[in-house]
This record gives sequence, C-alpha cells and structure tokens, in this order.
Amino acid sequence: MSGQLIVFDFDWSMADQDTDRWIFEVLAPDLRRKMKSLKDEIQWTDLVAQSLREAHARGITKDQIEHALRIMPYHPAMVRGVLNLKAGGKTTFLCLSNANSVFISTILESKGLQDLFEEIITNPAKWESSGLLQLNRRVDPSGPQHKCKVGCSPNMCKGEELDAFLARQGKNFDRIVYVGDGTNDFCPILHLRTQDLVLCRTHRGLQKRIEKEGHSNGLQCAVQHWGGAWEVEEIFSKL
Ligand SMILES: [Mg+2]
Ligand SMILES: [Zn+2]
Repeated sequence: MSGQLIVFDFDWSMADQDTDRWIFEVLAPDLRRKMKSLKDEIQWTDLVAQSLREAHARGITKDQIEHALRIMPYHPAMVRGVLNLKAGGKTTFLCLSNANSVFISTILESKGLQDLFEEIITNPAKWESSGLLQLNRRVDPSGPQHKCKVGCSPNMCKGEELDAFLARQGKNFDRIVYVGDGTNDFCPILHLRTQDLVLCRTHRGLQKRIEKEGHSNGLQCAVQHWGGAWEVEEIFSKL
C-alpha cells in the first residue's frame, strides 16, 4: 500500500469563493470591474498583480487584504473533511492552484490547516516592506514556457505540475482523488488513471469541459459530482 493522494484546486474547490476576485470585491469594487473588462486582454496572473499595485497605490493595506482573505466564504465541512482524512494517516494532500502562495497560506492558517499540504504549487507572492503584495507567474514569462496542449494558462500547466510532483514523490499512489471546479482543472485530470477519481463541482467550467471534451481527450478516471463541501466531507469519510 502506498496510500492515496488528494489533489485540491483552491478557489471554489477547497474554498467557497475565488480569492483573486474576492479581495477586490471587498476592498475595491471598481478594480474588480476593471479586471472583468481587461481579462481577455491581459493574462490573469499579470492582471491580478497589476490590480494589487493599483490597490497599494491608493492606500489599501496588507491588514485589509489579510482580513478580506480571512472572512472569505469557507465551508466548515471542508475543514472537518480534510482533517478527518489526514488523521487517518494514509492520505497525502497536494494543492494545485492558480491563486498565489500568500492568499492560500493566509486562509489556511486562519482555518488551522497550515500543515495540511505536502506541497502548495501556485504562483509565488510576497509582501514587500512597503505593504505591496508582489505577485509573479509560476512560469516566468521571460524563460522557457510549458508545453500544454489542452489550454492551461501561460502562468502554469496543472497537468505538468502534477506529473512533476508525482516524480518528486517517487512512488505510485494506490489512488489519486482530484477536487476541482474550473476549466484549468481539466488538464491534470487527463493525467489520472482508471482507479483514480475526480470530484467535480457542479455547474462550473470543469463539469462543462468533461461533458464536452472528456471522451475525445481519453479521460480515464471516474467522475463524481458535488455541490457543497458537506458532500465532499461525506465522500471523504468513505475513502
Ligand atoms: Mg477553482
Ligand atoms: Zn495543462
């Protein structure tokens, strides 16, 4: 037995909101509107970085951003579900997210989940002494780019990142369970095997992509749907 691996997307999967959008909805709705109008012109991670610079320039503080993250919707059943599974001792947790390291760690710490994940693979961010949150793409735009053919954003290919994580672990997990909701979770689930499972959140981009493109792309894993985190807790209690 090599145990099981649970892979979590973060926004709308582990958390019940989208960090990149939420902080601007709370602190600067006009910047949120601007992001909506620019999202087809500017790569998303770059757009969030730019919006953080604008927020900083108008005096929005680190404390305000951290507070907004801590009050972001997050279902108590998700906290219970992952902690119970972790306590069972046979599960490794990986976070694969297009958010950033500061947003994710701030929220996990506020829920007592700072030690949950073996690795958090995401865009790097850090607080500067001025109070600016400096955010960069995981894949540096000036270096070699990833080779994804199924539509991952330039900042990161979740499929390549999952493969690289599995190679670093140096073992075969008996089962991989992937919890996701978005169009960018489609690539990594194509890397799963027949004994693996995707827990796909309903009415969001991943469900639509599985229905439209799953078969033609050779999706092998089982698919189970969920709407609320209480259902993930229920599924986890049987793993
Ligand atoms: Mg998501
Ligand atoms: Zn990809």
